[in-house]
This record gives sequence, structure tokens and C-alpha cells, in this order.
Amino acid sequence: MHDFFLDIITVMQNQLWFYLLTIGLVSLCVGSFLNVVIYRIPEMMKREWHSECRLLLADELKPTEQAKSKAEVFNLIKPNSTCPKCKTAIKPWQNIPVISWLLLKGRCASCNTPISIRYPIVEMLTAILSLIVAATFGATDIALLYVFVTWALIALTFIDIDHMLLPDQLTLPLVWLALIASVFGVTEITPTDAIIGAACGYLSLWSIFWLFKLVTGKEGMGYGDFKLLAVFGALLGWQALLTIVLLSSVVGAVIGIALLSIQGKDKATPIPFGPYLAIAGWATLLWGEQIQSLYFNSLGY
Ligand SMILES: [Zn+2]
Repeated sequence: MHDFFLDIITVMQNQLWFYLLTIGLVSLCVGSFLNVVIYRIPEMMKREWHSECRLLLADELKPTEQAKSKAEVFNLIKPNSTCPKCKTAIKPWQNIPVISWLLLKGRCASCNTPISIRYPIVEMLTAILSLIVAATFGATDIALLYVFVTWALIALTFIDIDHMLLPDQLTLPLVWLALIASVFGVTEITPTDAIIGAACGYLSLWSIFWLFKLVTGKEGMGYGDFKLLAVFGALLGWQALLTIVLLSSVVGAVIGIALLSIQGKDKATPIPFGPYLAIAGWATLLWGEQIQSLYFNSLGY
């Protein structure tokens, strides 16, 4: 069995097309699962908050309501996906990434309700970004780590856009994973730099948050953003934090101006900070040195 895996790794390293094909196909399927994650994790959190509140207020509840709230199972696997409109179960052939959406012409097979184009877009995006990571780092352990981080960042980005929320269930495991990766030499930084990176990532935004809040009385970020920067600090070390924060404000300005010109000044909706941070952090994972030398060049060094 061990030899079998070694053979696979050797083939992957020698046949780049086979490696990229595998990453591309796996990522398409993962993209399909990410659609479930994006929809269900916030819903699971909401249900958990509700049940905690119910527990707290148990005295005021009738027994029947308590029984009902316990009966429903809702997680990433159960219940099976259904059409949100007509509740018809989605058959396996209707669950093939991108292709099913095209075959169904973006509509439910039973009730003809349009299916959001975001589902195939998330699937395509997952495949394309994973392929960029795989092509940049080759068949290496750091490539697999970064592909996994990419998947999580896509889920975080869309959940933040939908709910202004970066769930701990996604951010915190990434911090621990990055710290362990530095211990085993997967990432190129020392465990010390990773630990300081995680702590400084969290504390720097935490400080900006409170300073901003004390001065203006407004909240520009949330605690999820601090944890997301901690992820990048743990992956790239504290040295990369300034680059990421600067880049995320550049990304924010560019997207903000673009949205302002598309949606108009009155309709422009407030955008969470998480997606900017995710985009900037992801770009720094791939092209950190180039971005840094771009900064220094523009400063005239
Ligand atoms: Zn339907």
C-alpha cells in the first residue's frame, strides 16, 4: 500500500499534466461541496444559537416545541440537498459540478425555478484557483497545503459576503493547521515566526479595531477578520503581515470604487473586510516576494 502511494507521488512529480488534471477534477467536486458549506454553516450556526437560547429559556417552552427542535438533523451531510422551492431531492446526475447546471440550463428539473449561477461560478473558481496554486508550487506538500487553504478561503469569502461572518469553525482550524505545518517544515518559515505571526496577525487588527471604534464609534471589522489575518501570519510569518494589510486596503479600494461605479453611490452596499483580506492574503501566499519588491520600488528603494 505504501509503495502504491509512493508510485502515485512519483507519477505526479514526473507527469505535471496528470497532477494538474487530478487537482482540477478534485477541486471541481470540492467546489460543489463548498457550495453546501457556504449555505449550511451559517444556517447551522443560526440553529445552534437558537437552541442555546431555547435551553437558556427552557422554562418558557412547551414540551412539544422542545421535542421538535431536537428531532431535526441539519449538518453538512444531512439532510440531502433539495430544490429550495419545490423540495424535490437533487439526483446524483444533477449534482455534477458545472455540467449539471449547464444541462439543466440553470433551472430546477421539477419546478423550473432558476438555480443561481453562483453555484457553477464557485465550482469553476475553486478549480481555477487550485490549479494556479498547483502550477505555481508543483507536486509538493506546500502546494497541497495551499490548495486546502484556498478551498477554505473561498468558503470564508462567500459566507462573509452573504452574512458578514467568518465562522470560527473555518478560521481557527486553519490557524492550528498552519502552525503544525511550520513545525513539520511544510511552510518555509520557522515555528517561532509562525507563532509570532499568528499572535501579531490577531492583535494588530484587534488594536486597529479598538482604536477606530474609540475614535469614530464605528466598527469597520469583526473578530473573524483578526482570526483570518492570524491564519496568514501563521502561514507566512509575522514579516508578511504588513504586506497583506496594505494589499487588502488596495484591493478594498479597487473593488469599492468598482462597485460604486456599477451600483451608484446610493445603492452601494457595505462590504465586509474578510474577502479583501482573503484575496490579499492568497495573493501574498503565491507572489509575496514580487508584491513586496513592488512596494519597495514604488517607494523608491
Ligand atoms: Zn424545484
